[in-house]
Amino acid sequence: MSSASTATISRLSTLDATFDQHLGALLDWEGVSDSAVQSRVDEILSDVKQRGDAAVIEATNRFDRLSVEGMEELRLKPEQLKQAFDNLPAEQRDALASAAERIRLYHERQKPTSWQYEEADGTVLGQQVTALDRAGIYVPGGKAAYPSSVLMNAIPAHVAGVREIVMVVPTPDGVVNELVLAAAHLAGVDYVFTIGGAQAIAAMAYGTETVPRVDKIVGPGNIYVATAKRAVFGQVGIDMIAGPSEILVVSDGQTDPDWLAMDLFSQAEHDEDAQAILVSWDSAHLDAVAASIERLLPTLDREGIVRESLSRRGALILCQDKADAIAMINRIAPEHLELSVEAPDTWLGEVRHAGAIFMGRYTAEALGDYCAGPNHVLPTSGTARFSSPLGVYDFQKRSSIIHCSSEGASELGKVASVLARGESLTAHARSAEYRIRN
Ligand code: NAD
Repeated sequence: MSSASTATISRLSTLDATFDQHLGALLDWEGVSDSAVQSRVDEILSDVKQRGDAAVIEATNRFDRLSVEGMEELRLKPEQLKQAFDNLPAEQRDALASAAERIRLYHERQKPTSWQYEEADGTVLGQQVTALDRAGIYVPGGKAAYPSSVLMNAIPAHVAGVREIVMVVPTPDGVVNELVLAAAHLAGVDYVFTIGGAQAIAAMAYGTETVPRVDKIVGPGNIYVATAKRAVFGQVGIDMIAGPSEILVVSDGQTDPDWLAMDLFSQAEHDEDAQAILVSWDSAHLDAVAASIERLLPTLDREGIVRESLSRRGALILCQDKADAIAMINRIAPEHLELSVEAPDTWLGEVRHAGAIFMGRYTAEALGDYCAGPNHVLPTSGTARFSSPLGVYDFQKRSSIIHCSSEGASELGKVASVLARGESLTAHARSAEYRIRN
């Protein structure tokens, strides 16, 4: 690794003999594997399963430093949500409403439709799409509040046709974020409980006297939340196990270095484990971005977190050419990819793995975080190799439809009979054979 001792961020080159090793180390993320966290989460889950509300109240008082006595103190009424929305300053209310509308319009386009087709003998085959009855949305609230996460999780559920949406959000020390409540009102959330961590996941997965049991839990959270989601999977569906946020920016050397530095910071400020990487084949441009980073860092509100994140997991990578940059993209499979290049459309066909692709110099990733329209809940830690952004489809399922005509049943019966007898499942064979016409 070639990095000056004073530099905040590492400089790598794909030609370095040790490049693969260094990149592997940077990308390595252990995820949910801490055994102390695991055993604490297991305890909380089993306590909530056995004792319901009482266990949720105890855990909430302990971990969020509250002193509530009953669940009614941890439930917000629809009037409180509406009140929060009405009380917002007009500028915030308008921004929230504008973001919500754009997110809704985008997700409307994602709606899958049911379909059927008929064969010559009158047999009809198809697929019917139905929404979940009840979805549970986890909105993080430990260290920061995320009104945008309320919109990004609840609106696709609504568009999908979910009948009831249950939202949980912790309020450590009793601090309620009014924007979060206003967003819940705007997004049409049915129940809001001010609970968090593993106890909130358990309450939604198993149900308690007060918290309705849900069919699927979505939304990001810290390691307690992620560990609990993994543990309850099977009892309920989950969207994904989210790791720390990441961005990969590819620059052709023509974008303002200050813009690129700030784009990297915008991910790094999430937390110390967040990852921000810039790739370019223009060495002088990387020097300029490195200089912008050093100059702009002291101007940041979250300078400490950004420095830690950039120095631990960030990198400026010199690649050889466009093909080398594309190989890097597909290897990293980033959560967010910024193609800060001329004619990004000519790259698109070659990008095979990325959660969200931000095209061109003007498309800052931050716009996607809040209001462009696509979802900001995205696959992290290389999981874009096999998974997709949160969407309407996450709140729906599909049933197969088979409707045989008498003639169709007779013909299919002959095939099924042979295969069933081959498996020695004779009741299957006879059931099919009854329908064969002589
Ligand atoms: P959180 O709501 O996930 O966790 C807070 C809860 O953790 C508390 O209510 C408490 O119940 C539990 N907890 C804390 N310490 C505990 C302990 N010692 N034992 C048992 N339980 C404990 O909020 P957070 O901590 O701020 O984490 C939010 C995470 O979500 C961050 O990592 C953030 O980056 C991530 N996030 C991701 C996205 C995304 O779209 N990918 C969006 C927003 C936030």
